[in-house]
Amino acid sequence: MRPEDCLFCKIARGDVPASLCHSGDEVVAFDDVNPQAPVHVLVIPREHITSLEHARDDHRSLLGALLVVARDVARTRGLAESGYRTVINIGDDGGQSVPHIHVHLLGGRSLSWPPG
Ligand code: 5GP
Ligand code: ZN
Repeated sequence: MRPEDCLFCKIARGDVPASLCHSGDEVVAFDDVNPQAPVHVLVIPREHITSLEHARDDHRSLLGALLVVARDVARTRGLAESGYRTVINIGDDGGQSVPHIHVHLLGGRSLSWPPG
């Protein structure tokens, strides 16, 4: 998919509105439009990477940056003490519906395990 056509690239560019909670040089975070928990934030790179499976070895630091932003947003949303979950869905069996890599940050309630 071309970045011009990608929903999350459009959100990162500001072409599609979203409730942003982080906007950095490399990473953007915003509230999920269909939240599955009181806090449900998506953390994405500005660069279009289709999924973790499509990430290159030289994306290592960018992938780490996604988790650091997720942690910082979790702290800002008051989840540090109660705990939270980060999830990356990959491909069809992983349940990925938007083909631009994203980390889900979920918290604010007790989350069951294992996922379905
Ligand atoms: P996935 O299923 O690919 O792991 O997660 C995609 C997530 O993107 C879903 O949780 C879905 O609710 C969210 N999502 C889909 N379209 C939009 C949108 O236009 N805006 C926002 N903020 N989230 C979206
Ligand atoms: Zn994209």
